[in-house]
Amino acid sequence: MEQVDYLIHAKWIITCEEQNRVLENHTLAIQGQKIVDILPKESALQRYQALQEHHYDTHAVLPGFINSHTHIGMSFFRGLADDLKLMDWLHNHMWPAEKKWLGQEFVYDASLIAMAEMIRCGTTRFNDMFFFFEATAEAALQAGIHAHIGMHIMNVPNAWATTSEEYFAKALAFYDAYKNTEGITITMAPHSTYTLAIDDLIKAKEIADQLQLKINIHLQESAAEVQQSLDTHHKRPLQRLYEIDMISPNLNAVHMTQLDERDFEIVQQTRPSIIHCPESNMKLASGACPVEKLIRLGINVALGTDSVASNNDLDMIGEMRSAALLSKVTTGDACSISADQALKMATLNGAKALAIDHLAGSLVPGKIADFIAIDLDCLETQPLYHPISQIVYAASRDQVTDVWVGGKQLLKNRQLLTLDEKELRAKAQIWRKKIKS
Ligand SMILES: [Zn+2]
Repeated sequence: MEQVDYLIHAKWIITCEEQNRVLENHTLAIQGQKIVDILPKESALQRYQALQEHHYDTHAVLPGFINSHTHIGMSFFRGLADDLKLMDWLHNHMWPAEKKWLGQEFVYDASLIAMAEMIRCGTTRFNDMFFFFEATAEAALQAGIHAHIGMHIMNVPNAWATTSEEYFAKALAFYDAYKNTEGITITMAPHSTYTLAIDDLIKAKEIADQLQLKINIHLQESAAEVQQSLDTHHKRPLQRLYEIDMISPNLNAVHMTQLDERDFEIVQQTRPSIIHCPESNMKLASGACPVEKLIRLGINVALGTDSVASNNDLDMIGEMRSAALLSKVTTGDACSISADQALKMATLNGAKALAIDHLAGSLVPGKIADFIAIDLDCLETQPLYHPISQIVYAASRDQVTDVWVGGKQLLKNRQLLTLDEKELRAKAQIWRKKIKS
């Protein structure tokens, strides 16, 4: 008998590989942080002896969700300003609120609450851009969730920085302090073309090239953004980034709801990943990313929630459902974005966007043991014909019972193991009182 740390027995294992497989009555063998084997339960019991065995007899076990676009430090602004246009919402509500409230403690507390919410919906990795990066990094280390933290640069003054120079200086100081921290991956995150001068965008790209970092940027989120760029620069935002060589496979272009024929040509030629945030785009009436067409062009499309101030949750199950339904509405084609494709956008495609698909995003031997268990025995997901269909179209995040990150359990039967739910709710109440006053 070979010794392993854990045997995870599941009714179904959904691998989320390129050719997705749904395996019945199979077992994951985990050693240290990694998956070492996936095999039928009977064979697993003959081959392996484990320190612990876990039985998910009515559950689907699948890779943890990758939330590819977040601003988790904004948690306390959930529900503060709804039903507004993007630019009004940003200029007159979010940026003033950020200017007033941002700080190390605010972002730390907000990040912890967001991480608790993410873990409870099955997210094991997130790709963030906000401010006070250390606070988010420390919160992630406490929570045990993988964090990709963007060195967020803009030219909008707030409590974090007042000029783009200060933003860059603080970003590089953060990079030096956390570049070798396990569990933390640093990216470059210039906010957008409308909050930065072209020289700052070039500088962000040069730093990313030099340090070999992924770049994340909000791009062509709304028609107003494109029009503003045309009025000021006589070019679309995508074109401006194309001219400074920023559009490449190394770029994650977030939103992309406004694409004309020339934009499609650029994207097809340069092959960035697109981060689709359907609920935020719907809520701010920004438009809809033409996901179906992008996928047909072979472009990698991953899924993000954006912040809770524009979503208003971090629920990746809800986001998958929205992605599938929105594409059907916008294309007029009920075949557009299947449940399987939506699930891939929330897992493997996220790993591709973060350039870690050799390590995460699917359940195969050798990859990191980031996985979740969703109980499909609930009344709401009965009767069951296809597990993937039930997860995407019928299940709620409350059915996520267990979450594991790197072979370590973070959620057990809906109970957080690394964070104190009661304490976090008390913190939310304290911040609510302050913000409301
Ligand atoms: Zn965003």
